Amino acid sequence: MSYGSEEIGALEAYMDRYRGARTAVIVGAGMAGLTAATALARDGWQVEIAEAGPLEATSGWGLCLTGPSLRALDALGLADACLAEGYGMSTITHVDVNGEPADEVRLPRLIGADRPAMAGIARPVLHRVLYAEAERSGVVIHHGVTVAAVDQDGELVHVRLSDGTARQAALLVGADGIRSSARELLGLETSLDFHGQMVWRALVPRPPWATGIHQFAGKADTAGLVPLSDSQAYVFLTENRVERSVLPDAELVPRLRRLLEVFPGRVEELRSLVSTSESVVRRPVQTAFLEGAWNRGNSVVIGDAAHAPAPQMASGAALAVEDGLVLAREVGRHATVGAGLRAFAGRRTRRCRTLVETSVTIADLEQAQRHREAYPLVDSCHRLMAEPA
Ligand SMILES: Cc1cc2nc3c(=O)[nH]c(=O)nc-3n(C[C@H](O)[C@H](O)[C@H](O)COP(=O)(O)OP(=O)(O)OC[C@H]3O[C@@H](n4cnc5c(N)ncnc54)[C@H](O)[C@@H]3O)c2cc1C
Repeated sequence: MSYGSEEIGALEAYMDRYRGARTAVIVGAGMAGLTAATALARDGWQVEIAEAGPLEATSGWGLCLTGPSLRALDALGLADACLAEGYGMSTITHVDVNGEPADEVRLPRLIGADRPAMAGIARPVLHRVLYAEAERSGVVIHHGVTVAAVDQDGELVHVRLSDGTARQAALLVGADGIRSSARELLGLETSLDFHGQMVWRALVPRPPWATGIHQFAGKADTAGLVPLSDSQAYVFLTENRVERSVLPDAELVPRLRRLLEVFPGRVEELRSLVSTSESVVRRPVQTAFLEGAWNRGNSVVIGDAAHAPAPQMASGAALAVEDGLVLAREVGRHATVGAGLRAFAGRRTRRCRTLVETSVTIADLEQAQRHREAYPLVDSCHRLMAEPA
């Protein structure tokens, strides 16, 4: 009996899967995990994601997709979906402590002169776009599951999931955020640094004048507004020189209103919008950067698990999405996964370190009320980030 090439191809594919070749397990279905999964699946990898959280995305606030985010999403064919569901814009207006315009940063348009430089978008909406594309590309996503143990054996990674099942994979990707447990399982150590700042976000209706990002310098804190769609925006406030603390939910709106009271001009309008917001959150600003190798054998960490900047440059998601793309490209063009992972980290380390360090410097300047020194730094860092990933 003889076999045709189709049967032989199918048998080879089955044996590859059996041996774990070109199979990847990703920990975390956030921005880094979903993009890496889609990019790998499109290159022919069998990809499964273990996500600790439930199916529904829970965060009710938004974020800004800067040029590099849009460029990376465009490479996956997803930028237009984000622009359609979000709010395209190209400028950051800095307003001084007296409520007067102080500076305007015009961001580079990285996906063409006829498309906006960046987009504000609600987090659940962005998550839905990335999630749907991963599923369309054949990625299998398990919820309520994490990775319990990892063991490298030659070119294979033996992975035990918290539901008691096991996988053999050629690649394990830890994309489980700043408090990554995958990073810990791999023995990669980093510190989480708190910078004396707590950040607030409140979902509000978009005022008609808000067609770009506005940032207001205050006597003690910094406030601002980011449009998310035609109808929605979020107000942000960065509280400076404070201890980490958790406030009862009932205190969030009145406290945020009080903190906004000292700002003149348009912030008065934002203050009244905050009063009726049903979605107010307050979080510590924490940063992390993984020094040394980002991989152990065929396992690697990406996104916030490897490098988490302060939100001042609004670019953590950009790094996370870029990581997903660059990772798939590098493992695709090297003979072994380990070599691909080392090349990946080699391409990413300097860029990610620069962003984390610059975001921390900007946070420090904000705390020292040296806003005018921060503006050119924001501008030049956005220009640096416009360089290819
Ligand atoms: C206040 C604030 C504002 C920000 N604003 C912006 C902005 O405007 N623009 C921007 O580009 N960036 C912004 N960022 C940064 C951005 O949110 C992050 O850089 C980005 O979310 C990182 O993506 P990630 O996929 O690496 O991690 P995450 O988004 O944290 O995703 C990690 C995923 O892993 C899951 N997970 C966690 N632990 C486990 C586990 N043990 N097992 C399995 N799954 C697990 C989580 O549930 C989650 O789904 C902001 C950050 C903060 C804190």
